[in-house]
Amino acid sequence: MQDSNVNEMNRSTPYITKTEENVLHTYNRFPVVFESGEGVRLKDVNGKEYLDFGAGIAVFALGYGCGAYNEALKAQVDALIHTSNLFYNIPLSEAAEKLITAAGMGEGSRAFFTNSGTEAIEGALKAARKYAWNKEKRDDHEFIAMRQSFHGRSIGALSVTGNDHYQEAFRPLMGGVRFADFNDFDSVLAQVNERTCAIILETVQGEGGIYPAQPDFLQKIRALCDEKDILLILDEIQCGMGRCGAMYAWQKYGVAPDIMTTAKALGCGIPVGAFVLNGKTAASSLVPGDHGTTYGGNPLACAAVSKVFDLFEECALVEHVNAITPYLEKKLDELVGAFDCLSERRGMGLMQGIVVKDIPVGKIVAAALEEGLVILSAGSDVLRFVPPLVIREGDIDEMAQKLSRVLKRLS
Ligand SMILES: *Cc1c(COP(=O)(O)O)cnc(C)c1O
Repeated sequence: MQDSNVNEMNRSTPYITKTEENVLHTYNRFPVVFESGEGVRLKDVNGKEYLDFGAGIAVFALGYGCGAYNEALKAQVDALIHTSNLFYNIPLSEAAEKLITAAGMGEGSRAFFTNSGTEAIEGALKAARKYAWNKEKRDDHEFIAMRQSFHGRSIGALSVTGNDHYQEAFRPLMGGVRFADFNDFDSVLAQVNERTCAIILETVQGEGGIYPAQPDFLQKIRALCDEKDILLILDEIQCGMGRCGAMYAWQKYGVAPDIMTTAKALGCGIPVGAFVLNGKTAASSLVPGDHGTTYGGNPLACAAVSKVFDLFEECALVEHVNAITPYLEKKLDELVGAFDCLSERRGMGLMQGIVVKDIPVGKIVAAALEEGLVILSAGSDVLRFVPPLVIREGDIDEMAQKLSRVLKRLS
C-alpha cells in the first residue's frame, strides 16, 4: 500500500514545491500530482488510483486515454497545428459544421471558435452589443445577468458573473450590467428597460451550486426576449455537450437561445470554446474587423472538436447519459437519506450536486481524495458530481462506497 502522507515515499513533493515556487498562487491546489489516466480513473505519481467524478471540471467527457480521440490529435499534429484565421483549414470546416448541427439553432446560424469558455462569453457579449448597435446606434446598452452565476474571469465575463466575492477587488468592471435572481422571472422583469440588449444565464448554474433553470422561468424569459427583441444568451459551457441528457441542456426545455456559449467538454481537454449565433443574430452583428483571435479555431483544436462530435455519435453518449442518470440519482439520493450532513440533491443528468451542512465541503473533497475519489465542490456548500460521461453503474457504486466511508469518518 502506498500512502501519500508518508513523506519519504511521496514522489509528488518536488513537483509541488517547484510549482509553488514558480506558478502564481491563484489556486489552493490539493497535494496530488496526476500523471496518467485510463477511462474514468486517474493515477498520481505515487501510483495511487483515483476514481474521477470531476472530469477536469466537467471537461473530459470521453474518459481518459480514448484511443480514437488520441489518434485524431496525433494525426493532426503531424499534418498541421496552426495557420491563423487569415486562411481556411480543413478541421475548422468540419468542426463548425458538426457544432452547428449539434446546436440546431436553425437556418443561418454561425459559430465562432475561441480558446476558452471565458472568451466565448466575451464574444457573445460583443455580438449582443453589436446587434443592438445596428438596430439603434446608441452606446448605452445593458445586460441582465443572474446572481450566483459564473461566466468567467476576464473583465467582461466577470462583469456578468453575479458573485461579489469574485468582483470586489477588480472594480470598476464593465458598465451596463444589472442582476436578477435565477428562477425568479419577476426579478428579471424588474431590470428590463429600453436599453436592455441581452439576458445572459446558465441553463444549469454550475459554480453557483448546481441549480437547473425551471422550465417556466426559461420559457417566460424567451417570450419576453421575443416581445422586446432582447437577445437570450445561454451559457452552456458546463451544462452542455451531453452532460444534462441532451447535446445542449436548453434542448430539453423547448426554448432556444439567440446566442449560445460552449467550451469545457467541447474539446475534451484541448483548450477550445465557441459561441454560436442564430440566423437573426449572425445576420446583424459581428462582421470583419469586429472580432478576432490568433489561435481560435486552429486546426489542432478543431480536430479535437470534430473527433469529439464523431465519438459522441459513435458511442451514443447522450443516450448513455440518459440511461445511466436514474442510477446516479438513486445512489446520490440514498447517500442523502443515509447521512444527516447531506440535505438535498439537485441537478440534471450527469451534472449533480448535494447540499452539505455542518461539515465544510472542502474537507469532504480532501478526504475523498485520500480515499481515491475525485469529487468537486460548487458554491460554498455543495458537493458537485460531474463524471466523464462514459461512467458505468459499477463506477457509481464505487463512488457511493468511497463517499460513504469518507462521510462516516467525518460525521
Ligand atoms: C467554466 C465556465 C466558464 C469559463 O470557462 P473557461 O474555459 O474557464 O474560461 C464560463 N461559464 C461557465 C458556466 C463555466 O462553467
